[in-house]
Amino acid sequence: KGVVHRICAGQVILDLSSAVKELVENSLDAGATSIEVALKEYGEESFQVIDNGCGILPNNFKVVALKHHTSKLADFSDLQSLTTFGFRGEALSSLCALGNLTVETRTANESVATHLTFDHSGLLIAEKKTARQVGTTVTVKKLFSNLPVRSKEFRRNIRKEYGKLISLMNAYALTAKGVRLVCSNTTGKNAKSLVVKTQGSGSLKDNIIQVFGMNMFSCLEPVSICISDGCKVEGFLSKSGQGSGRNLGDRQYFFVNGRPVDMPKVSKLVNELYKGANSRQYPIAIMNFTVPTRACDVNVTPDKRKVFFSDESLILQSLREGLQQVYSSSNA
Ligand code: ADP
Ligand code: MG
Repeated sequence: KGVVHRICAGQVILDLSSAVKELVENSLDAGATSIEVALKEYGEESFQVIDNGCGILPNNFKVVALKHHTSKLADFSDLQSLTTFGFRGEALSSLCALGNLTVETRTANESVATHLTFDHSGLLIAEKKTARQVGTTVTVKKLFSNLPVRSKEFRRNIRKEYGKLISLMNAYALTAKGVRLVCSNTTGKNAKSLVVKTQGSGSLKDNIIQVFGMNMFSCLEPVSICISDGCKVEGFLSKSGQGSGRNLGDRQYFFVNGRPVDMPKVSKLVNELYKGANSRQYPIAIMNFTVPTRACDVNVTPDKRKVFFSDESLILQSLREGLQQVYSSSNA
């Protein structure tokens, strides 16, 4: 059973960034307005997500880390109009299988928090009282340590994994509305360094300034393209001539209804049109697609990073026309 469980766990938790992503989304689902991600040794030693959300109810302590336990999907028809990030009940159980999981949690109904320790199969093996504000802290130590091959790969690629995680945290910081987000890393050499930080003021503009700074923001221009009824693209793109000579993968962020997603086709289109207008440069692109939830499906892949639009060609075509206008007017 152990092995099957671990192989299946690979579906949601592929690497450090997908592990942290699941925890951050749990915090967002719990209504947190403050989320802190704290790494030790770039996440190799441990990572922790600390929130001020609703906490976990005591009668759920035994089941939260069991496979397919979720408190989020009321009935199957909910899948159509899903608003929470999670619904599969796989993240905590997968993390148990892949590392050492502990949880500290407290709801508003309790005066003290509880520290919970789980074993690799998701069973609650120890429980003790502790002091904590309302909210939840999930700690994962030694991710992949019980899978020798994955563990070796993980340690070998740790800087790359860390880089991927930082760009994911940037994505959440850019899209945060009313959520304070902080990410830090502690290493043996450096005490503690803050890597990503936002107050989540609400506007994309303010978030960009907080994450990347005013200098970067001043190189951008706003885009707003209407695609069809209830469907639009808004965001910021490099001004003409202000792009980068290299294709910086960590400078393009795409969102669908505020969720970070991978959009290779959109990225390719944006690069192509920008290069057309600016010889050999690549733009910074930070764009949110607002679409009716019924017109897209973000839950197709286990990590929910891929989106499918029911009318993808219309969206790409409108985007192409809209961007051509943006660049022709800024070049004029
Ligand atoms: P899912 O998010 O798909 O429901 P998870 O395995 O990610 O599944 O989490 C299992 C359950 O644990 C959630 O449904 C939720 O009830 C609880 N939970 C996990 N993290 C938190 C958190 N940060 N705050 C409150 N509840 C949480
Ligand atoms: Mg979840």
